[in-house]
Amino acid sequence: MIHFISPTRPLLWRNRLDMAYVITEPCIDVKDASCLDVCPVDCIYTTDADKMYFIHPDECIDCGACESVCPVSAIFPEDAVPDKWKNYTEINKAYFNK
Ligand code: SF4
Repeated sequence: MIHFISPTRPLLWRNRLDMAYVITEPCIDVKDASCLDVCPVDCIYTTDADKMYFIHPDECIDCGACESVCPVSAIFPEDAVPDKWKNYTEINKAYFNK
């Protein structure tokens, strides 16, 4: 049997690997921190001065553990962030590029 490799497959695969989870508006002033307890790579950051948590897009391994424990449903896979909070994808990235 012959298997053909799609010329688009490498691009799709790379995009999947580049994806991260994103913390959005409901986290603001809540900062429950349940996500910190379950993240296996400790890629969720904040400071006392920050109003929310942020996920490091290069460190997140896309495991999804944080999404289900967030009591305010603030965490989404990058490709599933609701339209009204799409800007939080860039906000999370920008936090680490100060
Ligand atoms: Fe951490 Fe997994 Fe959530 Fe990424 S998806 S922030 S690795 S718990």
